[in-house]
Amino acid sequence: MDEALLKQALEFGKPYTGKGEVASYIPELSKADGRELGICVRTIGGEEYHCGYWQRRFTIQSISKVINLAMALEHYGFDAVFHKTKMEPSGASFNAMSRISDNEDIPFNPLVNSGAIAIVELLLPLGLDHMLSSVRGLCSDKYITMDEDVFKSEWSHSARNRSLAYLLQSKGLIDGNVDETLLLYTQLCSLSVTAESLSNLGQVLANGGVQPETGRRLLKEEVVRTTLTMMLTCGMYDGSGEFAVRVGLPSKSGVGGGILSVVPGEMGIGVYGPSLDSKGNSAAGQKVLEYISRTEKLHILDRYTRHPVSASETF
Ligand code: GLN
Repeated sequence: MDEALLKQALEFGKPYTGKGEVASYIPELSKADGRELGICVRTIGGEEYHCGYWQRRFTIQSISKVINLAMALEHYGFDAVFHKTKMEPSGASFNAMSRISDNEDIPFNPLVNSGAIAIVELLLPLGLDHMLSSVRGLCSDKYITMDEDVFKSEWSHSARNRSLAYLLQSKGLIDGNVDETLLLYTQLCSLSVTAESLSNLGQVLANGGVQPETGRRLLKEEVVRTTLTMMLTCGMYDGSGEFAVRVGLPSKSGVGGGILSVVPGEMGIGVYGPSLDSKGNSAAGQKVLEYISRTEKLHILDRYTRHPVSASETF
């Protein structure tokens, strides 16, 4: 891994920025420049490599679901979390209602909106301030704040999530705090991060929950294992299967343009590219990750056959 490789990966990904569009269902997000692309890598040995718009601030959006899941597992345990959602890929869009509208069904997993909203109710006793300081700690980024403009924009266009939340309440999956739950969910989606912050979070996850620099354990090992498994199977919504074949790394996307990827035991990767494909995943970001994964043989199933390969052999 080096910066030259990241540069090549961004060059490879750039044409794909034109193949997507910035999110507009949250109007404030449509102000992003879809041509921007950046990446940051943090190894568990402490090295950092970056390229492009790696310092651009953008909202974390659905990548907050990873932190919410980990925090809920950490504080309330496996049974409390998986009482509210299943652990299955949904095969449906991130804000789908259809799959939970049947009486007997609960959300497919904690990384789609319905499941994430149900999980956030567990976090209400912790509150925004505690969550914010945990996010800052996990991302080693004290500058993370709530982007008020994005928050207001999403809050005033939250009919879809609101209906999901009421549906959850009707099923007894949210007790009585629909507004408070939705508020915290939306606030946590509006936290502003960079590709570097995401790579720091990925580094902690890659290292089994211990922050390498400080030696501090931030998350239990089994919490990390469950979280990474959910990312691998469900982190890219209805694009999770193809992404697992092409990239093969536990990852999570957000409609702000971020992707968090984890190479277990090795490194965390943060990517920023706000031009999104039809599923809400960064169009070019996925290609950047595919390039790096194939060139460096980082696919988790390549571990057993890994040998050096040149980019020209691969592409
Ligand atoms: N805040 C967004 C929403 O709830 C997050 C969705 C996403 O990033 N895919 O719709």
